[in-house]
Amino acid sequence: MNVSVPKESAAGERRVALVPEVVERLVQSGVQVTVEAGAGEGAHHPDAAFEEAGASTGDGWSGEVVAKVAPPSADEIGRLSEGSILVGFLAPLTAADTVRALAERNVTSFAMEAIPRITRAQSMDALSSQATVSGYRAALIAAQELPRFFPMLTTAAGTVRPAKVLVLGAGVAGLQAIATTRRLGAVVQAFDVRSAVKEQIESLGARFLELDMGLEDAEAAGGYARPLTDEEQQRQRELLAEEIGKMDAVISTAAVPGRRAPLLVTEQAVKNMTPGSVIVDLAAETGGNCELTEPGETVVKEGVIIAGPLNLPATMPDHASSLYARNVQSLLGLMVGDEGQLELDFEDEVIAGACITRDGQIVHEGAKQAAGVTA
Ligand code: NAD
Repeated sequence: MNVSVPKESAAGERRVALVPEVVERLVQSGVQVTVEAGAGEGAHHPDAAFEEAGASTGDGWSGEVVAKVAPPSADEIGRLSEGSILVGFLAPLTAADTVRALAERNVTSFAMEAIPRITRAQSMDALSSQATVSGYRAALIAAQELPRFFPMLTTAAGTVRPAKVLVLGAGVAGLQAIATTRRLGAVVQAFDVRSAVKEQIESLGARFLELDMGLEDAEAAGGYARPLTDEEQQRQRELLAEEIGKMDAVISTAAVPGRRAPLLVTEQAVKNMTPGSVIVDLAAETGGNCELTEPGETVVKEGVIIAGPLNLPATMPDHASSLYARNVQSLLGLMVGDEGQLELDFEDEVIAGACITRDGQIVHEGAKQAAGVTA
């Protein structure tokens, strides 16, 4: 099997799909790797490091398997050979044009987002590895933007009370944000509509915020949250508005796969906060959890600093790439036969589940729906 790695082209994307350490392991297992010149620069891996690991420098689009991070642009899809295999984030539930173009190009594509979240596939779970980076980074942005201390301090000039932080959504990113803000000394509360996370929140030293929403549990298939009804959402916003007013910082991470992010922080909630408080809206990419978020910007509204960062993993490209590369390596491990040859077993739940396009067709159910393909 030969794998190639192109240089990422999306604005601000500094990650790379494979890092030298992982290339070395792949090469040892009989896989040939070609890396485009400069592909690792953003993540601080010079071409020479890839070569030392056993890769050759060359056409990043030439492999039987092309490993990427961000979804390919239309131009990039044109550079893929017909019949080749693409592995990367593909946004299959939202980027219908990309998925259609991949099918038309007869590319067999595998989306990292679509890898089933089962125990056997944990090492391939790039949503988790990258969300870990986002949650950590979001906590640091909150601490950096807040014009107050996070920890409690007892000084000769008086005692400083610790910052109160609320984390909304306690998935992978939220849990990492809780852990990081706790380490910085904040007093942390967190809320999620899935009651299963209460224990996880408490095990990180935070308090589960109980909201009297009359909600049993909103966990749906695959451990994801189900979308709330309009009435439930309305009730949640009202109850949250009051709690948010007591916080120094809110880090919001709530998401429902394939949908616009739920609106949790209203303009009224922002008005309830003390001037100088901070909101870091990790859901900015999918429309934002806060009504006043401007995706990609940090703005001050009603005296509150509202950050809507995009693609946070790309702001920490070294570790984000290392973790992502290990996820890709694990997935490639399922695609390689005993003799080092490419072998796709569509009986395998992970291979079948992650496959988005094949034989000129869109084969993933969610992607089909998003692209308006009827049976
Ligand atoms: P996500 O990014 O889809 O959503 C983030 C969080 O937002 C979730 O916890 C969700 O419940 C929450 N949320 C949605 N609507 C909300 C609302 N209105 N108010 C408050 N919170 C709301 O989630 P994720 O981090 O990708 O994790 C999704 C699930 O996958 C979790 O159950 C997680 O434990 C599970 N998971 C499983 C594995 C595995 O077994 N391999 C690995 C990672 C995650």
